[in-house]
Amino acid sequence: MPTYEYRCRSCGSTFDVNRPMSASSDPAQCPEGHDDTVKLLSMAGLGGSGSAGAPAGGGGGCCGGGCCG
Ligand SMILES: [Zn+2]
Repeated sequence: MPTYEYRCRSCGSTFDVNRPMSASSDPAQCPEGHDDTVKLLSMAGLGGSGSAGAPAGGGGGCCGGGCCG
């Protein structure tokens, strides 16, 4: 089951949710109980820890951080 990362816009915390892909677009509730959350892009394939400042697109989607509006 894939892991999706969400961010709560009420308290600003991020949290992970394990859910089936079919439910990936369903709203997730923050651990603090807030409903105003947004789903972040999957961390899969992105270089996490390191010295990289801005991840450079390698030919895939360019919408790493909402640059595509
Ligand atoms: Zn919250």
